[in-house]
Amino acid sequence: MQTSNVSDTELYLFENLIAFDNITHFVSSRKGGYSKGVFQGLNIGFNVGDDDWNVLRNRKILSDAVNIPIDSFTFANQCHGSNINFAGSSLRGCGSSDEKSSLEDTDGMITSTPGICITVQVADCVPVLLYDSENHIAAVIHAGWKGTIGQITGKTLEKMIHFCSSKPVNIYAGIGPSIGPCCYEVGQNVYKELKYKGISKKDIIIPSKQKDKYYFNLWQANKKQLTDLGVKPENIEEAAICTKCNNESFYSSRASDGKTGRFASGIMLKKK
Ligand SMILES: [Zn+2]
Repeated sequence: MQTSNVSDTELYLFENLIAFDNITHFVSSRKGGYSKGVFQGLNIGFNVGDDDWNVLRNRKILSDAVNIPIDSFTFANQCHGSNINFAGSSLRGCGSSDEKSSLEDTDGMITSTPGICITVQVADCVPVLLYDSENHIAAVIHAGWKGTIGQITGKTLEKMIHFCSSKPVNIYAGIGPSIGPCCYEVGQNVYKELKYKGISKKDIIIPSKQKDKYYFNLWQANKKQLTDLGVKPENIEEAAICTKCNNESFYSSRASDGKTGRFASGIMLKKK
């Protein structure tokens, strides 16, 4: 990834997606912003206990930094599921200025409509961006451990293939900053769930020194869902930035005992 500073806001951009000038994308960070205390910085999340007014002002900063009007953002009410919805023009602006109008029960969004910035909010969970360069289709995914085990990234691509005639060979992906295999220790519940779902644990689950604990590589797990469907590994860019190790730059739930803000990642199609 590379960083781009707009006044005191720092954005992270995927090199493979920057190459396309008919899309805008970003990953925001904590730098800049009005929030204070445990939310210090550019908190984008409404539902985390921060002052709504600060969140609104932070979203305006982000909107200005990425040069996208605030009512062109569409947010989802993420619930660690694996539901994916299409965001057409009627959903432009949903969740952009309040929580209650965001897309219900949605952790993945796909759009073929230019001018809608589909956006997820995260603090350790993986933000994934997909772009079909041939059919001009974009998707954004919020993948925590539950979504990852629920194969949400693979399911999003399958929807693009089925409904948008996307071909995996034309897909470019960005796997954003999130808790890394260095820090993401999980217990037997996660291990058993992987086993139950028949998901290969190779390179995804690494035993910890602690009994019945494991390190879960969310980056590799989400990447594999794409390569298994035929996405070229060289078209997938992994940020490889651990949010817990880099808590001064990104919100991390694990680094803050669950009480913290959210950074955002979004993608918008421009008109061809
Ligand atoms: Zn780490």
